Amino acid sequence: MEYVVPPACQATVPVEGTAARFPVHRIYCVGRNFAEHAREMGAEPSRGSPVFFTKPADAVVTEGSDVPYPPATRELHHEVELVVALGRDAGGEVPVDRALELVFGYGVGLDLTRRDLQAGAKERRLPWDTAKAFDASAPVSALVPTSACGHPRGQRLWLEVNGSLRQQAPLSDMVFSVPEVLHALSGLFLLRAGDLVFMGTPAGVAALHPGDHLRAGIDGLATLETRIAAPAR
Ligand code: MN
Repeated sequence: MEYVVPPACQATVPVEGTAARFPVHRIYCVGRNFAEHAREMGAEPSRGSPVFFTKPADAVVTEGSDVPYPPATRELHHEVELVVALGRDAGGEVPVDRALELVFGYGVGLDLTRRDLQAGAKERRLPWDTAKAFDASAPVSALVPTSACGHPRGQRLWLEVNGSLRQQAPLSDMVFSVPEVLHALSGLFLLRAGDLVFMGTPAGVAALHPGDHLRAGIDGLATLETRIAAPAR
């Protein structure tokens, strides 16, 4: 195949216990999936249907790399989240009781957010892309295959910034479970092997600054360390 411009590199994430990597197809994110976080953002938590948005696949930042402080914001926020990695194509809508069959493994990630741009977009009823889908907005840990970790129960999800605990909650506090989210997503999009799903963040989101050191984790499952570096341009 000849291309008129060089094709982009495939974005990939390491997998615990193997040198083989996970190729990222799409990144889906769930909004308002912890009641206390929905409230801190000024929304009433509801069980209606989950809120979804996306990030580009090449927004992933893997373990060992810094995150450059993004342009066009004065309020970069952290959101620590469970990340679900899909290992099979769904082929259509998937019932709740079969949804976990799609899962390859799990990790912990950060849904980095330009909160000032998001607040402006909400106020003017505009889309969230510039607030959520920017470069390097999706740091993620190495993925742990379900063969090694099973499926999440009520483990604690947490984030420390410069050694201080900023966010923590048991995964059992999620409004929509992993099977419920995969079922809902599969009715909207053709889910594929290679998709990542960021499952939403607990309360405690706050601002990050260049030089901040972040440690995120899910007890007994995964940890992620990264640093906010000076702006790239
Ligand atoms: Mn989020």
